[in-house]
Amino acid sequence: MVAKMKNCPSCGRIFVPMNATQRLCPDCMEKLREKEHEVVEYVRDHPKIKVNELIEATGAPESMIKRMIREGRFIQVGVRMTYPCEKCGAPITQGKLCIKCAEALKNELQSAAAKIVADRDAKRVPAKRDSQEHASAFRSERDRQGGSAVSKRYRGLH
Ligand SMILES: [Zn+2]
Ligand SMILES: [Zn+2]
Repeated sequence: MVAKMKNCPSCGRIFVPMNATQRLCPDCMEKLREKEHEVVEYVRDHPKIKVNELIEATGAPESMIKRMIREGRFIQVGVRMTYPCEKCGAPITQGKLCIKCAEALKNELQSAAAKIVADRDAKRVPAKRDSQEHASAFRSERDRQGGSAVSKRYRGLH
């Protein structure tokens, strides 16, 4: 059996993961589980707490709390935890932006992409058609010459 070793990103120890999704060594996994439990307990006791207060109170990293929000860990204890949208500060539970900002960003990107495509097409289409015409004219000229050369050679053999 080939055991694939991994380096624990938290403590640096080398360990053999039990499955592909195991990122941390067993010790750190256990510690993480305990920490998550502590965070959930804290939120259950303080349902009105904000993310930054929770980070301060529990010492848990922001990334961990955001992940727990995305995973619905606080919904499970009846608390709708949110963190602020990176653009407008609206409370969100998924991703980096609220629905409004995500939608605005998507539209912005779409119109930017559409403009790039339109600009590119305006420049490229005539040029592409020209080169295709040249290529096909060139090819048919060669074909004609090649064809006559072959038929001449063919006739010559007889
Ligand atoms: Zn570790
Ligand atoms: Zn927003």
